[in-house]
Amino acid sequence: MIVQSLNQIRAHIRQAALDYHRDPESVLLLAVSKTRPAKDIAVAYQAGQRHFGENYCQEALKKQQELGAFDITWHFIGPIQSNKTRALAAHFDWVHSVDKLKIAQRLSEQRPDTLPPLNICLQVNISSEETKSGISLEELPELCKEIAELPHLKLRGVMAIPSPQEEFEQQRRPYKILYQAVEKLGNPELDTFSFGMTGDLTAAIAEGATLVRIGTALFGAREQV
Ligand SMILES: *Cc1c(COP(=O)(O)O)cnc(C)c1O
Repeated sequence: MIVQSLNQIRAHIRQAALDYHRDPESVLLLAVSKTRPAKDIAVAYQAGQRHFGENYCQEALKKQQELGAFDITWHFIGPIQSNKTRALAAHFDWVHSVDKLKIAQRLSEQRPDTLPPLNICLQVNISSEETKSGISLEELPELCKEIAELPHLKLRGVMAIPSPQEEFEQQRRPYKILYQAVEKLGNPELDTFSFGMTGDLTAAIAEGATLVRIGTALFGAREQV
């Protein structure tokens, strides 16, 4: 099942990229494995998947231990509590959900010297719902500048989780706005647009996603917790 879904998603990404005149190789699939057992990750891994995303620190560390022998690139995509930054800095390759300078500073300070700089995306809230985390578009230029100064981080781009929309054009809009805002910064190091989940994958690719975060379409529906 997982292998079949993985192949379908790969085909979907490829087709969406071609439809929007993009190189299919420019869109990376991040398999979102939150709430899934390590054995599900192992199945996807055997089928060639290397990038996995987790939302809960404790849960992720446990799976990382179980999968120690696997050459996985781990991405953290969940809300960040400041008492978890040390573990994130030591055990992940990417953190997509940075939305405060304070958190970025801690991640930089706590990144072990033996590891390469931690890849960072700033989470930007483009639907401007009060309940969602993420910085505003207005805060983006300043925060980019400040994070670029931190020695053990490598700022790679932005992550967005827009409020769910049914309609394709509505799905595209926030991504388009954020893509243009990043372009305007004119920083070639910002090469990552962490856009799109199961429900809006095509719209995200149409608007420049370089990394799509897919859980449900790959592993099936999650149980409500
Ligand atoms: C859970 C989650 C996903 C995956 O969502 P699906 O709809 O299951 O594909 C992607 N990004 C973030 C930040 C998530 O928390």
